[in-house]
Amino acid sequence: MGVAARVEPSVEQFVAAPLRKMLIDGKWVQAASGKTFETPDPATGKVLARVAEGDKEDVDRAARAARRAFDEGPWPRWTPAERERLLLKIADLIEANGLELAQIETLDNGKSLGESQNVDVPSAAATFRYYAGWVSKITGDTNPTDPAFFNFTLREPVGVCGQIIPWNFPLLMAAWKLAPALACGNTCVLKPAEQTPLTALRLGELLQEAGLPDGVVNIVPGFGETAGAAIVQHPMIDKVAFTGSTDVGKQIHRESAGTLKRVSLELGGKSPNIVFADADVSEAVKGALVGVFFNQGEVCCAGTRLFVEEKMHDEFADAVAKAAGSMKQGPGIDATTQVGPLVSQEQLERVTGYLDIGKKEGAKVLTGGERNTAPGLEGGYFVKPTVFTGVRNDMRIAREEIFGPVVALIPFKDENDAVLQGNDTNYGLAAGVWTRDVSKAHRVARAIRAGTVWVNCYNVFDVTSPFGGYKQSGYGRELGRAALELYTQTKSVWLRI
Ligand code: ADP
Repeated sequence: MGVAARVEPSVEQFVAAPLRKMLIDGKWVQAASGKTFETPDPATGKVLARVAEGDKEDVDRAARAARRAFDEGPWPRWTPAERERLLLKIADLIEANGLELAQIETLDNGKSLGESQNVDVPSAAATFRYYAGWVSKITGDTNPTDPAFFNFTLREPVGVCGQIIPWNFPLLMAAWKLAPALACGNTCVLKPAEQTPLTALRLGELLQEAGLPDGVVNIVPGFGETAGAAIVQHPMIDKVAFTGSTDVGKQIHRESAGTLKRVSLELGGKSPNIVFADADVSEAVKGALVGVFFNQGEVCCAGTRLFVEEKMHDEFADAVAKAAGSMKQGPGIDATTQVGPLVSQEQLERVTGYLDIGKKEGAKVLTGGERNTAPGLEGGYFVKPTVFTGVRNDMRIAREEIFGPVVALIPFKDENDAVLQGNDTNYGLAAGVWTRDVSKAHRVARAIRAGTVWVNCYNVFDVTSPFGGYKQSGYGRELGRAALELYTQTKSVWLRI
């Protein structure tokens, strides 16, 4: 399969196995149907690994196992200290196997190894470690009711959580979903994206190594319309946590009504990154690049609408285009790569489709604007970092999520215009503001309708800080204390004295 020379022997072994099986009730099993699917290496387009393809029957087995583990298994009877120790062990194992996980992630998703190693893997470990700390601090209240009674609340787990994750941060999204759910005492059925199932499966092995009881986490790779839909419809699953596109989020919202599941949705975005003329321009240029080209632009909160104050628009556009044009593109596994390939052929077609749409709409390509088929990259899904100018906020490239390395520069007149245009979108996931004026920074941060606002920075994350959407970017907050709300429910207990 051609990866041996570039990766650890254990990674070569992991991807070269005849079949990567799914994890149900503590056992690695084939799909009930016997079906399998291939996951390609996006840098070459060649087959990377073959994976068991979960469907309705497998989801049913996984949901029953998770139900048993929740209702009968040892897991709910573990002390908080035992659960905490287990989550800490998982964090340690992620770190101990960090290079291997990073290489698998890069081969499967395409992202640069530097990002996998320095961002995704440590953040995944940090997520388990942070929620380990919460296990012993999830408490109820005693309430000042009529003294003839004693009333208190219990914060109890929701039950079986169905967790459907995307392909842009496969390991990290698995950690964002599993760590808080486990900390709160739930059991899980996790479905990784069909494009990138491998690190979730490797994580499953580490969960077992850490000593997680059978059935507490079940991992079912498969496709959205089959395995994903089966999770959303399954009557034994109490909650669905989804990260992915807004269209699928809406579908899950509708489908989950049948069993009235608790639902949390982290969906798409078309985030405004607003640069005022009084900003530190060189920092703002760097921030604009990080905002849109990090992870090839396959980031739901990417700052894809780059609003620039009119009076400095042209020079700023030139600086961004120059920097974007000089970013090193190549296979993620090469240490020098800054921008890797997109995840799939489908994503390549979608992004290049938007490049055509932008050109037809009259936007001007300052740099990029096409697939990259330089020698050595021909088989991969590479799109050159692209900067469009002459964009209006009502063009499709400014309204629809592209999910690739494409930024649309839009001029604005003043603060009011920036906020009006910035908010003129169906989405509300994130925003950036660049200015040296502290009062202006505060005013704009409040006026923007989005779940996260970065001032003089972009794409900064920490496990302690909540993340999620306004408007059609979804509801519910992941990370921080907020995620405990997603994975617990409150019981009020009355005793007559
Ligand atoms: P993208 O369009 O960027 O691939 P999706 O929202 O389609 O993003 O995918 C995110 C996750 O949702 C993946 O795990 C995918 O398999 C899953 N998914 C897609 N369609 C459905 C569906 N109808 N029901 C449940 N899950 C789905």
